[in-house]
Amino acid sequence: MAGANILAELGGFDGAAEVLQAWRDGMAPEPALLVSDWADRQRVLGSRGSAEPGPWRTSRTPYLREVMDALSPMHPARRVVFMKGAQVGGTECGNNWIGYVIHHAPGPMLAVQPTTELAKRFSDQRIDPLVEETPAIRQRVAPARSRDSGNRQLSKEFPGGQLVMTGANSAVGLRSMSARFLFLDEVDAYPGDVEGEGDPVALAEARARTFGWRRKTLLVSTPTIAGLSRIEREYLASDQRRYFVPCPHCGAMQWLRFERLVWERGEPDSARYLCEACDGAIGEQHKTAMLAGGEWRPTAIAADPHAIGFHISALYSPVGWFSWSQAVRDWEAAQGDDRAIKTFKNTVLGET
Ligand SMILES: [Zn+2]
Repeated sequence: MAGANILAELGGFDGAAEVLQAWRDGMAPEPALLVSDWADRQRVLGSRGSAEPGPWRTSRTPYLREVMDALSPMHPARRVVFMKGAQVGGTECGNNWIGYVIHHAPGPMLAVQPTTELAKRFSDQRIDPLVEETPAIRQRVAPARSRDSGNRQLSKEFPGGQLVMTGANSAVGLRSMSARFLFLDEVDAYPGDVEGEGDPVALAEARARTFGWRRKTLLVSTPTIAGLSRIEREYLASDQRRYFVPCPHCGAMQWLRFERLVWERGEPDSARYLCEACDGAIGEQHKTAMLAGGEWRPTAIAADPHAIGFHISALYSPVGWFSWSQAVRDWEAAQGDDRAIKTFKNTVLGET
C-alpha cells in the first residue's frame, strides 16, 4: 500500500517503475508476497506427510487461498479464525504460514498445540518434513545434528526469527517469548485454565501485544461441544465467512450444507446435492469447477473489525479426498449411536 502511494506521488515520472522496484527490493518494510503465492512457488510436499507429494498447489483447495492470504503481513486482519471439518487441508494453512515466516517474513513465532507432548509430535511430524522437503526453508534452518545449531525439537532458529512450539498445558511455555505471529492449533482441545494462570489463548495473545498492529494470530480447530467450543465462540464473534460456490445449472451462489444432500437409503453412492435455488441435482463431478468458482462471503458483522472467521466442512473436500458418498456412508453408519453422530458433526461438518 505504501508502494502504491509512492507510485502515485511519482506520477508520470519516467522510470517510476524502476524506482518503485528498487524501493521494494531494498527498503520495503513488509514483503508484498501473499502466503498462497509463496506456497505455490516454494512449498514442496513430501511423501512422508502428504497423500499427494510434489509442489503445493493452492488450486487444489481454492478455499484455503483467502485463509492463507489473511496471514500475510500486509493483510489488515489481526485475528484469523478457522473452524473446519476434517479432510479439507486445514492444517496445511498453518504449515504454509510457518514456511512463509521462516523464508519470507521472519519474526518470532509461537506455535501452540493442546499439550507439550502434541507439540513434540507436531515438531517431528509436521515441522521436520516442512524444513526437509522445502528447499527454501532447508537453507534457513540449521540441521538438527549439531548441538548448538539453533535447531532443537521445540525451537527452530532462522535468520531474523525463531519458531517456538509449546503446549497449551504449559504456562511456562506460553510465557516463554514475545511472539509477533501466533499459531494456535486445535484450540478446542486446550484446557480452560493453564496451571492456575487462566485461559491459555489469552496467555499466548498477551505475548503478542508488544507487536501492536503488526501482530497476527491464527486460531484453528475442529469444533467440539456447542457452548463449550472455543473455536465456535471465536467464529461467532467474527464476520462468519462461508464459502459460496456456484450451482453448475443455474449459477446461484450458495454454501454447502449436509441437509441438501439426498440419496437412496442404504445406497450412499447415489448421493447428490440439490441446488437451493433450482433444485437441480449436482454430482461429485461438478465439485472441482464449483470450488474454483467459489468465494468467501461474510455472513455477520464482527465485533472486532480486525477479526475474520472462516468455516468450512468436509463437504468441500476436493475430489479424491473425501466424497459426498463417503459423508453419507459415515452418516448412515452413525445412526443410533449418539457419540458417532457427534463425531460426524464435529469432524465431517465442522460443527458443534
Ligand atoms: Zn441451481
